[in-house]
Amino acid sequence: MYQILKDLRDIFLPPTCPVCGGELPEGASTVCNICRMNAPLTYYWTQVDNPVVRKFWGLIPIINASAFLFFVHGNGYRQMIHDFKYHGNWQPAFEMGQWYGAEMARGGLYSDIDIVIPVPLHIRKRLSRGYNQSEYIASGISDSLGIRIDTAAVYRRRHNPSQALKSHRDRWTNVQDIFAIRHSERLRGKHILLVDDVLTTGATITSCAETILKVVPDARISIAVLAVSRHNLETA
Ligand SMILES: [Zn+2]
Repeated sequence: MYQILKDLRDIFLPPTCPVCGGELPEGASTVCNICRMNAPLTYYWTQVDNPVVRKFWGLIPIINASAFLFFVHGNGYRQMIHDFKYHGNWQPAFEMGQWYGAEMARGGLYSDIDIVIPVPLHIRKRLSRGYNQSEYIASGISDSLGIRIDTAAVYRRRHNPSQALKSHRDRWTNVQDIFAIRHSERLRGKHILLVDDVLTTGATITSCAETILKVVPDARISIAVLAVSRHNLETA
């Protein structure tokens, strides 16, 4: 029922910018030009050494790591990314991924990536949500970089409780050994770009990278997340 109402609304109302809610010019389907210009971009994808890379120091060997946007309190981008996950509004996720991918291509640091892999959700969660928002971000990145996406090689074998309400220490134990590899031959010798929506402690993405490197020691890993809050970069 909700979907029908939503479709009807889309027919009668012009599309709006997912960040500011402003009306979009005809034919446009994504973030408006003003919001693009005012986006709180990190530019970390142009820097070999940056606070996101440092977040993984001593945890896992990575080649490059970056976030696209800062999570800024009260900023429309924050709400948009929240809506990817909790309100079924995944559509802008693909286009945000395309934008990020285009910037990465221009920056040059991510030019030798072989495969883009979104951090997987457990099948149960994926079915109840109907999609994995990180998959849309990863498809957008893959589209702009012209590099294939693989959503089957890595999977989440354990359904772990939500990280949101966990203490810092619990978040790390909560994600241990939750991932597994299904097609290790596809990852051998490859430079993998692991993609997630939001970086908080880094525990989930670290666990995913660890599993890949354990099974495929000659793989190399880079990381791309759509958003990070400055607070999460200041705390270990
Ligand atoms: Zn806007």
